[in-house]
Amino acid sequence: MSVRCGIGYDLHRLEAGRKLIVGGIELPFDKGPVGHSDGDVLAHALCDALFGAAGLGDIGTHFPDTDPQWKGANSLIFLEQARKLLAGKNLTIVHVDAVVITEKPKLGPHFPKMREALGRALGVPAEKIHLKAKTNEGVDAIGRGEAIAAHVVATLSAP
Ligand SMILES: [Zn+2]
Repeated sequence: MSVRCGIGYDLHRLEAGRKLIVGGIELPFDKGPVGHSDGDVLAHALCDALFGAAGLGDIGTHFPDTDPQWKGANSLIFLEQARKLLAGKNLTIVHVDAVVITEKPKLGPHFPKMREALGRALGVPAEKIHLKAKTNEGVDAIGRGEAIAAHVVATLSAP
């Protein structure tokens, strides 16, 4: 058995009047990400981590933001597609570890729901998905509440 790790990163600007969706869950907040799809940073970074570990390029390769079919798309769809591509290469998700960085709102209370939603999309138990929240201590665009970002490391196994 061999083990592969992949890293993913994503950032979206936050603007007033948009829905804030993180990890497939809509959070009550007055701002949300600007993006072609629903702008779910955690789902996007997770997708890239999976593609990286699988040697399958990145999210833009598979779901270009110029493609109208992904406009406003629920990003969990991207994870469901990634799941199929991994299965096609006989790869299994061992573990996912993520950090989501935003000044507000508090994400921790929503983590159980996010882990369930991400696990469902990927076909793995929620226990395999570990989430952490950070602020940027008021520093830079994230600290000023102008953006949200996520870093994800995914570990896969191959037979
Ligand atoms: Zn994104």
